[in-house]
Amino acid sequence: MQVEDHDVDILFTGGEILTLDPARPYIQHGAVAITGKSVVAIGSVEEVRRKIRSAARTFDFSDLLMIPGLIDCHNHLFQTLGKTLGDGLTLLPWLSEFMLPLAANISSDEAIKAARMAALNCVLSGTTSVIDNHYAPVDEATTIGVATAIEEVGLRGVVARGIFGMMVDGGIKMNCDTRLFKYSNKDELEITQNCIAEKPKGSLVEIWPAPENVVYVDPELIIACHELATSADVSWHAHCSESKYEVEIFESIHGVRPAKWLNKEGILNSRTTLAHGIWFDDEEISLLGQCRANISHQPVCNQYLASGIVKLGPLMNAGANVALGTDGMAVAGQNMFEAMKSAQMLQHVRELDPTSSTSELVLCMATRNGGRMLKRNVGRIVEGSLADLVFVDMSGVHHRPASKKVCSLTLSTTASDVKHVVVNGQIVVEDGRSTCVDQEKIIADAMQAANDLICRAGLAKLVKHWNEPSVH
Ligand SMILES: [Zn+2]
Repeated sequence: MQVEDHDVDILFTGGEILTLDPARPYIQHGAVAITGKSVVAIGSVEEVRRKIRSAARTFDFSDLLMIPGLIDCHNHLFQTLGKTLGDGLTLLPWLSEFMLPLAANISSDEAIKAARMAALNCVLSGTTSVIDNHYAPVDEATTIGVATAIEEVGLRGVVARGIFGMMVDGGIKMNCDTRLFKYSNKDELEITQNCIAEKPKGSLVEIWPAPENVVYVDPELIIACHELATSADVSWHAHCSESKYEVEIFESIHGVRPAKWLNKEGILNSRTTLAHGIWFDDEEISLLGQCRANISHQPVCNQYLASGIVKLGPLMNAGANVALGTDGMAVAGQNMFEAMKSAQMLQHVRELDPTSSTSELVLCMATRNGGRMLKRNVGRIVEGSLADLVFVDMSGVHHRPASKKVCSLTLSTTASDVKHVVVNGQIVVEDGRSTCVDQEKIIADAMQAANDLICRAGLAKLVKHWNEPSVH
């Protein structure tokens, strides 16, 4: 039998495309051709057909909307095992009574099973890249195991390895669980360096250093993490200014606000990726912009924990890159469509202005800006970009009529509208099911892990089936 020599591996043809390319943002009757990991042609069906002779597989998506894969810039996949248990707690008790005991007790095997299920939820809901801020446990084998679990499900991304180091004043004042501060600063750096060597820059899932929080990690260790990231040519990640009292604690110890301190130490730049960043003052916002720093905004989490609302317009106008994240299941961060809708709505309330955040803006944040944070050629569908694509079914009654597709996309889409997902040129979800893994087994394994962990960590007391509202 003669093996046919095709021009391209896959040709997607016939549907609408939101490209996120400012030069040509919308194509009505479009086509995209992929060879290997990359997009090699995009345009109208006629334009692409003129460029290529044949495709190994042709895929008609005429009833679907193609968008770039969504990029979740801040998640904690392991926390999915504690979903619903922290309900009604603000950040400090949420951490001290719920999440840090869970993190101190979770085993390597449980964390990997949790990551696999949470990554599956990501990809089934249209996320193609995730920054997983994994902080328990963080030995080398578990960190690499989590990265491998994410790859098995077919996702691209980063494991931002959570770093605590030695306990400092900020940790004591934040009531942090001492069991998480188990490695010396030297060991933290060495383990992270080994992990980066195993999955260096350019791997499908990279490793970055992630001093967990600017408030409760030793300042010297944060500076060393920045040096490590620079020498490995990767970025680094940290929670920063999520709650008002974190900033107050930091200021009371260091006599300066967190972003000003980062700038003073020379570690605020385009490698800096900060989660949340709600409580920056005007001077900090200006510094973040000048330094082209990255902020990951988690609007659903911020509402759930009542942390505040990010100053989106001022940050973006100053020049900071603001992308979007979910923060994971334990803070009701289900998927990126919910994150986009919340990001859109919250700014309207903050600014009392419906033009302050539009469907186009939040889709840019969830795609292009995420690609900029990752420093990868993702988040836009253009010739030469990595082929991370999502196909959304817009035919449901909740999308009808959708005169302006992008609005229905960010305001009305549910996870089950995601029909197909392509990551790195591979179809990893087809007709709403993973092509890479046994979904039922992954869910069953994670459910067993959740039961074991909740009992062992003494969290069963948080399982309450009904709290009668105090007002009626
Ligand atoms: Zn977080």
